[in-house]
Amino acid sequence: MTIIINMKESLNLRKIRIAARFIKEGKLVAFPTETVYGLGGDALNENSVKKIFLTKGRPADNPLIVHIASFEQLYELASTIPKEAKILAKRFWPGPLTFVLPKRDEVPSITTGGLDTVAVRMPANEIALSLIKLSKKPIAAPSANISGKPSPTSAEHVVDDFYGKIECIIDGGETEIGVESTVLDLTSKPPTLLRPGGLPLEEIERVIGKIKIHPAVKGRIVDVARAPGMKYRHYAPSAQVIVIEGKKDRVHEKIVELIDKYHREGLKVGVMATGGFYDADAFIDLGRNSEEVARNLFKALRELDKKGVDIILAEGIEEKGLGLAVMNRLKKAAGYRTILLR
Ligand code: AMP
Ligand code: MG
Repeated sequence: MTIIINMKESLNLRKIRIAARFIKEGKLVAFPTETVYGLGGDALNENSVKKIFLTKGRPADNPLIVHIASFEQLYELASTIPKEAKILAKRFWPGPLTFVLPKRDEVPSITTGGLDTVAVRMPANEIALSLIKLSKKPIAAPSANISGKPSPTSAEHVVDDFYGKIECIIDGGETEIGVESTVLDLTSKPPTLLRPGGLPLEEIERVIGKIKIHPAVKGRIVDVARAPGMKYRHYAPSAQVIVIEGKKDRVHEKIVELIDKYHREGLKVGVMATGGFYDADAFIDLGRNSEEVARNLFKALRELDKKGVDIILAEGIEEKGLGLAVMNRLKKAAGYRTILLR
C-alpha cells in the first residue's frame, strides 16, 4: 500500500505530519525537492537506510545524501565544519549544493556507503524542509528511481518505479531544477567538485575561488576512491542513447543522417534536441537554454523509453552553467557513446 499525498497547490502541514510519522517509524517517504524527487528515510536509522538501498536496488557502496532543515543540524552529522562550509551555506543554502565532510560516529556507515565522510545538503523546497523539521530527523534521500534509471522529476515518475513498494509519495508537482545537486568535497584543499549539478561550478568559484574538478565529472572513470557512486551506470533508459555534440548545424546534419541510417536498419528512433525539426519516430524539444534542458532532460529520457524507441539521439549542449551537469548526465545515460563534431 502506498499513500499518495497531493500537495501541488499549497503546503499542508497536517498532511506532512502523516508523512513525518512514517519517517519516525523507519518507513520510506518519497518527496519533492527543488532538484529531483528523493526517496527518504531516517538517516540515523540503519534499518530505514537498508530499506532505501533494497528498494532502489542501489549498490551498498554508493553513499546517500543526508538532508537537513537548519545549519545547526550539520553539527549532528559532521565532525569538522570548515569555514568554506559556513560561507557557502550562508550564500547557497537552502539550495542544490551538497557538502562532503568528515562524518560523526553517530552516522551509520551504511548511510555513507562505508566511507568516513558524509554528504549533506539543505533542500530549497518547503515540503522537504517541513518533512525534515516535523520528523525531527535528518533524512537520507537518494533520487527516488530504481537504481540506474533516469531520476524522477514528478510524482508520476516515482509512482512508475515504486508504487506499492514504499509507504508514501508526496506529490508536489514537477521539480524546478530537474538535475540533482552539485556535490562538493570540502575535505580536500582546494575543495573538489565530485558531481556537477543544480548549482553551477562558476557560482561556487565566484564565492570561494578555484576548485578542483574530479576527472570523473567529464569522462568515464572506473575506479573512484572518494565517491564510489560515480562508477555506476546511471540515468539510463532502456534505449541506447547516443550523444552528438559540436557545432549546431553539423550536429543537426549528423542527427538527420543517423535517423536515416537507423531507419534503414529497421530501428525505431527518438530524438531529443534544443529545437529543430526531425523526421524521427518521436521527438522531444529540450528547450532553449541550459536551465530548460536541465528541467526537461530526465522526463524526456523516460518519455522516449515509454514510446519504445530503440535508439535515442541526443543533441549535446555547451558545458557551461547547468550545461556541465546536463552533459554529465547525458554522457552517463549514453554509456559514454558520444560523437564529437568540430
Ligand atoms: P544520489 O543520491 O542518487 O543523487 O547520489 C548521491 C551521490 O552523492 C553519490 O552517487 C555520490 O557520488 C555522492 N556522495 C554521497 N556521499 C558521498 C561521500 N561521503 N563522499 C563522496 N561522494 C558522496
Ligand atoms: Mg540518483
